[in-house]
Amino acid sequence: MRDHVCVVGAGPVGVVAAIACAQMGMQVVLFEAEASIDHSPRAATTHPSTLELLAELGLFEEFCSLGLVARHFQFRDGTTKTLVAEFDHEVLRGETPYPFVVQTEQHKLSELGLRRLAGMRNVQVRLGASVTGISQDADGVRVTTKGMAGVEQCLFDYVIGCDGGRSTVRRCLQVEFEGYTWPERFLVLTTLFDFGQALGCCTRTYISDPEEWTNLFKVTGDDLKGRWRAVFPAREAESDDEAFSEAAVRRRLTRLFEGHPMELVVHRNIYRVHQRVAISFRKGRVFLAGDAAHVNNPVGGLGLNCGIHDAMELAETLHLVISGQAKEELLDRYERRRRPLNIEYVQQQTVANKKRLEERDPKVRQANFDQLRRAAADPVLHKQFLMRTSLIESARKARKIT
Ligand SMILES: Cc1cc2nc3c(=O)[nH]c(=O)nc-3n(C[C@H](O)[C@H](O)[C@H](O)COP(=O)(O)OP(=O)(O)OC[C@H]3O[C@@H](n4cnc5c(N)ncnc54)[C@H](O)[C@@H]3O)c2cc1C
Repeated sequence: MRDHVCVVGAGPVGVVAAIACAQMGMQVVLFEAEASIDHSPRAATTHPSTLELLAELGLFEEFCSLGLVARHFQFRDGTTKTLVAEFDHEVLRGETPYPFVVQTEQHKLSELGLRRLAGMRNVQVRLGASVTGISQDADGVRVTTKGMAGVEQCLFDYVIGCDGGRSTVRRCLQVEFEGYTWPERFLVLTTLFDFGQALGCCTRTYISDPEEWTNLFKVTGDDLKGRWRAVFPAREAESDDEAFSEAAVRRRLTRLFEGHPMELVVHRNIYRVHQRVAISFRKGRVFLAGDAAHVNNPVGGLGLNCGIHDAMELAETLHLVISGQAKEELLDRYERRRRPLNIEYVQQQTVANKKRLEERDPKVRQANFDQLRRAAADPVLHKQFLMRTSLIESARKARKIT
């Protein structure tokens, strides 16, 4: 007997896809190229609409216990060091049982997901097994893997490629990854310094500055003691060594707070950032989800959230088809629901978020600030703003697409 579904990649999207498929009764094999989960600092903000999905899977309580509940977020003006506007998720009460975001590092979701999968009898997790090839016909998908046991081939009904931005699955399908790469990379500095106390800012704070913007947020760390991550644009010509140098790190952190002690810096990382969407999310029996299907800049914390929405939508669709409740044509709905909404809600919003932070024209900056202040002050606009940023609006819109 062959397994129903192969999930490629044990990032957060892959583990959620595997758990959702397994809970619906499918036989699942999950392949992960690495022997363990990567801990580099990436996604941390999980929005209300995604918390609802984690709750459906029974993951919410544990996920929440590993992070911080953050009700508010702020926009600040870096040039005057003043607050521009503060938003409060509490206005979403009634729309969602979770009127807040949870700041939990993404590796914790992958690891907690792997622990859950280990206890499920219809799941096989294969760490250290890299998918190298995929071929399909009307009867199934043949997946080639390379790992400790050498080269192997297995046959599946369906494959979900959750293997990240450089997806091998996407390459095997020869699906174009349309879009562009930003010229500047993003630098992430992690520090034990308490910016919340020093600046009076929220656990999630966006600082607009024409010279150099910052996205500042708090996570718990593996020791649950708390630490702050500050994300900055690196200069276009700045090398890794320059960006990581003592002088550059000091310059950036002391611009945020004059007395920042250098010995509290615990991690430095730098990323290339893209805005890209696969021109197709499905080819035959093979699907793309998460970063394999779309990537975006992290301002607003939307990429992973959208990937988890993909995983849940796809698991439900596959279940309906595999269990005979729907015809195979339904499989096309996955792309109809997920691709346009990624462009409308995630690509457009993250590009606008980045532009707002880096804006140089004083008049446009002022207009941006006025708009944020108006939205924060008016209860109707405040709620509208958060319905969009929390992806509740896009999740509801998706359900209406037939
Ligand atoms: C600085 C930064 C901050 C961010 N902040 C946020 C945020 O706050 N909120 C948010 O929603 N998003 C955020 N993002 C985006 C988020 O990190 C990604 O959207 C997320 O990692 C996507 O998860 P994924 O599971 O699709 O892919 P990944 O996390 O990239 O996981 C892919 C997995 O597939 C494995 N793999 C790769 N190739 C193969 C293969 N051939 N065979 C088997 N396994 C393979 C990899 O080893 C990896 O484990 C941020 C990104 C960055 C860079």
